[in-house]
Amino acid sequence: MSLSDLYQEVILDHYRAPRNRGRLPDATVSLNAENPLCGDELRLDLDVQGDRIANILFEGRGCSISLASASMMTELVKGGTLSAAREAIARFKAMLRSGEEDEALGDATALVGVSKFPVRVKCATLAWTALEQALDELSADRAR
Ligand code: ZN
Repeated sequence: MSLSDLYQEVILDHYRAPRNRGRLPDATVSLNAENPLCGDELRLDLDVQGDRIANILFEGRGCSISLASASMMTELVKGGTLSAAREAIARFKAMLRSGEEDEALGDATALVGVSKFPVRVKCATLAWTALEQALDELSADRAR
């Protein structure tokens, strides 16, 4: 099995059995995002306690890349700090620009091949950009 076949399996696994799917009734911050180029839609609910993402759930409709990426993103940042989440977002975007694998991204490393398909990059980054916006909203709320 080649590395790209293995990565394909990881992506399909997250698409077929998404992690952290659902809604949080008492979310600290919620965010809707869409990628009109493909028709992907995503909602993120975060429960933030102090500087930690205690829980994060998503719901969405769209292509396998966008949904698998959301599943991978939630798995990576759940339970971690807000600054770790920001670092993960930066690393993920850097990986899609450079096309170089980043093992620190866990299963999301499997999306490295998307860098070769510019039209799919927006699918892959949708969940990460949504998380970034959610974190920005949270810090704006806290500054008030
Ligand atoms: Zn898509």
